[in-house]
Amino acid sequence: MSADGPAPDDAALPGPVPDVLARAYDPERFRADGHRVIDGLADHLAACVPTAATAPDDRPVIPYRPPGDALARWPADYGEHPGADDALAAVLAATAADSIRLHHPRYLGHQVPPPLPAAALADAAAALLNNGMAVYEMGGAATPQELAVIAWMARTLGLPATAGGLLTSGGSLGNLTALLAARQVVAGHDVWRGGAHAGPPLAALVGATAHYSVARAVRALGWGDGGAVEVACDDAYRMRADDLPRAHAAAVAAGRRPIAVVASAGSTATGAYDPLPAIADFCARAGLWLHVDGAHGAAAALSPRHRHLVAGIERADSVVWDAHKLLAMPALCTAVLYKDEAHAYAAFAQEASYLFAPEREWWNLGLRTMECTKRMMGTILDASLRTCGVGFFRAYVERVFALGRALAARLAAAPDFELATAPDANIVVFRYRPTPALTGLALDELQAALRRRCLEAGRWYFLTARPGGRHGASLWLRTALMNPLAGAAELDGLLAAIREAGAGAAT
Ligand SMILES: *Cc1c(COP(=O)(O)O)cnc(C)c1O
Repeated sequence: MSADGPAPDDAALPGPVPDVLARAYDPERFRADGHRVIDGLADHLAACVPTAATAPDDRPVIPYRPPGDALARWPADYGEHPGADDALAAVLAATAADSIRLHHPRYLGHQVPPPLPAAALADAAAALLNNGMAVYEMGGAATPQELAVIAWMARTLGLPATAGGLLTSGGSLGNLTALLAARQVVAGHDVWRGGAHAGPPLAALVGATAHYSVARAVRALGWGDGGAVEVACDDAYRMRADDLPRAHAAAVAAGRRPIAVVASAGSTATGAYDPLPAIADFCARAGLWLHVDGAHGAAAALSPRHRHLVAGIERADSVVWDAHKLLAMPALCTAVLYKDEAHAYAAFAQEASYLFAPEREWWNLGLRTMECTKRMMGTILDASLRTCGVGFFRAYVERVFALGRALAARLAAAPDFELATAPDANIVVFRYRPTPALTGLALDELQAALRRRCLEAGRWYFLTARPGGRHGASLWLRTALMNPLAGAAELDGLLAAIREAGAGAAT
């Protein structure tokens, strides 16, 4: 043995697997824990989900506590030894008890869906199998499953047969990934090697209602404040395609080279869909990359009734689509789709020759993503599609869009409510205005106060928003109707709860 080789004691290792490790990996223990955990989660679901026989229980939809109180409930002291046999089920039951209940029909909050229960089970399987995904060998099923769901999503949007893409961890990262690809393809200089300052300063023309992740992506790309040139929206919060020439000229006058337009389908604040055909026409004329942020709304393509909202999306160079929004998947699962699959390799191309490389390894998905290791997102969506069928996803989208319309109709008919705009999708922005005399700051303060009361009481969960546009910086209420099991009782109940909280807030 050499002088720097292992010490004699180390050479004797390893002995038998220590008990603490063997116990943790014991398949029979997993089986027993699994039954207990699933029973607990099924009880959680049963307490939320209305059925023909039972109504949801009357616990709060959000067991709201001030953040400091919540922190005190979960101290950072962990014991040295394993707990009792039912310790895992007990911790998870306590987690569920302190969590917002997304499956409850009075959950009318963010764009986070009550996940499809079958997908939650697939997610647990993905966690146990834990394929690494970056290279094919670490994802023997997960790699073709990801490619299958990407192909299905591209086909659903009507993208051409040349299309392809990848799954990544969230729409924010997806927008950055697509803009990285756009830059590498359109900038005209090799930013990857030369850096952001190797050519003229670049810019994207970005709708006024774009998600904030686009502004972040532009900063991360190194384009600075002037890198996102705002395109105006109309009264319905849709991009004004007729403002694109002005925005383009403004970017050029500021010494920028515009390379892309970022459109929303639909936007986060109001769910409005930008007019994609007119935007695509402008991009074709001006030689710009069209990126469509369909994180929330691309799923409209699944429904014959709502497909028209995304007409023109098939002309996009890149599209982002969050399956953890209107495809009811657990977070996270985001598709970045490219009209030309070759561009999927552009974002992280170490070699300028990526476009032509015949040896491009399509089976090694890590070439296309910021992530090296990533979760088996494709497996979860693939398993859901194979078991629930496309019909589930179509029915989900149609139901939540119908809820959006039904809520808007109630608000429009109520003299003491105002609707910011007729909804395209399942996001509704409105405010409570018991008397027309109430304006300005007092009206804003009423929205904030009644929302706070409802949050703290925990019976209803909805949001506030500043939609901008013609309503300026005023404060409104907002709901994304993500729970397909909500119905007329919840829509009527929401108006009644707001009136009651509003009356309480005014006294
Ligand atoms: C939700 C959303 C995003 C951000 O997606 P994450 O998955 O939350 O990162 C981006 N764009 C739009 C339009 C969205 O609605």
